[in-house]
Amino acid sequence: MSAAVPAATDRLGRIRIDGVSKSFGTRRVLDGVSLTVEPGSVIALVGPSGSGKSTLLRAINHLETIDAGSITIDGNYIGYTRHGDRLYELRESEVLRRRTAVGMVFQNFHLFPHLTVLENIVIAPLSLRRADRPAAEARARELLARVGLAEYAEAYPRRLSGGQQQRVAIARALALEPAVLLFDEPTSALDPELVGEVLAVIRELAHGGTTLIIVTHEIGFAREVADHVVFLDHGSIREQGPPDVVLVNPSHARTRAFLRHPT
Ligand code: ADP
Ligand code: MG
Repeated sequence: MSAAVPAATDRLGRIRIDGVSKSFGTRRVLDGVSLTVEPGSVIALVGPSGSGKSTLLRAINHLETIDAGSITIDGNYIGYTRHGDRLYELRESEVLRRRTAVGMVFQNFHLFPHLTVLENIVIAPLSLRRADRPAAEARARELLARVGLAEYAEAYPRRLSGGQQQRVAIARALALEPAVLLFDEPTSALDPELVGEVLAVIRELAHGGTTLIIVTHEIGFAREVADHVVFLDHGSIREQGPPDVVLVNPSHARTRAFLRHPT
């Protein structure tokens, strides 16, 4: 970036991924991935099964260590701190604190089955933020209204449909007011008729100023909401750019092949 252009330092949610590599055993799953995500932008991360999409999201959310490179969110290293050339792992308490800047929504919802919808949402603010209970509950009810589930606060997750559970999971992620929200195939476990209600909630968020990275096979949706599309293939970014280029008229044969069968 040119020094003459003032940086938008007032907005949170800038992600810098720089030369990130990761292997499981001898298998290199991420191979020198670099990507800068501007605050408030919406990234669709697409690519074949096994290309490393979940591993990359998990690394951004401190759920996976990396072997090389670095990831920062608003200048804070994820999982590590760097002194000169060396990476030092952060203390667990610091990892927990930094992780709250990032929310994550998983394919299979991961709600706590033994807690009501409301308790699922307030548990993190109460334990990690030491929020007071009345304020946390009021905020949780606001979030439930926002995802269209105001009347389900006292219900247990098993009574909800998959689409409703996923909307609770989104409300739960929002309760910590993360600067970055990661979605890992949020609709792939849902019956087709429930996909739309979850995409509608994500579509609302896309206009809200939170940085979103969405792993999805819903190519039409990606094209509609994303500012930028990244195509990952064998652990490397093969192609990236505006949705109408990458998803409509891609330059690479691998991208074209993926778009014919996006699974
Ligand atoms: P995607 O989300 O694009 O389908 P993943 O990031 O889940 O891909 O996985 C990339 C590759 O890494 C796959 O070959 C997967 O089997 C492997 N992998 C992922 N997690 C682990 C793990 N914890 N241990 C070993 N291999 C893993
Ligand atoms: Mg995955």
